[in-house]
Amino acid sequence: MDHTPPPERPPRRLTVLSGGVGGARFLQGVLRLVARTGATTEITVVANTADDLWLHGLKVCPDLDTVMYTLGDGIDVERGWGRRDETWRAGEELAAYGAEPTWFGLGDRDLATHLVRTEMLAAGYPLSAVTEALCRRWQPGVRLLPMTDDRVETHVVIDDPADGQRRAVHFQEYWIRHHAEVPAHAVVPIGLDQCAPAPGVLEALSDADVVLVPPSNPIVSVGTILGVPGVREALAATPAPVIGVSGIIGGDHVRGMARQLLAAVGVECSAAAVALHYGARKEGGLLDGWLVDPVDADAVPALEGAGIRCRAVPLLMTDPDASADIAAAALALVP
Ligand code: GDP
Ligand code: CA
Repeated sequence: MDHTPPPERPPRRLTVLSGGVGGARFLQGVLRLVARTGATTEITVVANTADDLWLHGLKVCPDLDTVMYTLGDGIDVERGWGRRDETWRAGEELAAYGAEPTWFGLGDRDLATHLVRTEMLAAGYPLSAVTEALCRRWQPGVRLLPMTDDRVETHVVIDDPADGQRRAVHFQEYWIRHHAEVPAHAVVPIGLDQCAPAPGVLEALSDADVVLVPPSNPIVSVGTILGVPGVREALAATPAPVIGVSGIIGGDHVRGMARQLLAAVGVECSAAAVALHYGARKEGGLLDGWLVDPVDADAVPALEGAGIRCRAVPLLMTDPDASADIAAAALALVP
């Protein structure tokens, strides 16, 4: 294991590409690290919105909300998503009406967020402006940007257990209704190639001092952000080093469904394969640096040989201090 000392001062402008739970927990660590060092770091988060869905007439943005609630201290820590002290009365009433879908956990407190968001969208505000307004309450300590203001939805091609037919369902249906336990054949981010980056997204990449890629899902979280037109180009051109953290430890995800989705797109489920899937920046890929867990330390020489600076450090985000150590190790990889 490498014990590279953390940088004295975190960079001034840090941009982080985030999914939901994995991204949010990593961001807690980034904020704790910045607080530890007393630095003034401007943190911009570009969050995945391809998990978003319309539910009972409401716009729900799971990854934006997970980041906002986690950093704003409103999250249910055990569950990792949704509001603390949640009740489920509204969902029970909807189910009593037989209103579909019934598989999505819609909490009463959470509902208020979706109501405010939907009302603002209906009034003509773009999602980025709505997110900024919601964050005025939560004060997450970062600038939280949706990757796009446009509608993008990840669908997963599955064998539907109801009738054995192959069909595409919304990612949330695959994950929450089917628990990612049905065979997945493809991942289709609908609308991604037509969307525009939200205001500030490309600037946050080109003006950053460092770009961090948390252990978020490489396909349906980071992968969709990278698919927003202009994002890859901005990342290729930015002078900022791009450092990533593996969400795969010992050949499996820590939580979620990355293993299944990596298989669906033909990428081996290993810390090394995900790094190579992102690619070395000097070969036209994403990464300058990559952290793997000590159980995957044997991948380090090969990744270094492929042009990615690589270290093995413990990557379990058991609490914000553990996440802060991971963030420090990521920043220590900055050349
Ligand atoms: P989601 O949108 O809620 O699924 O969250 P993300 O996409 O941001 O993060 C999910 C990914 O984070 C999964 O693929 C997990 O393997 C990874 N992850 C979750 N907890 C940990 C952890 O403690 N350490 C590491 N290294 N990865 C984690
Ligand atoms: Ca997500």
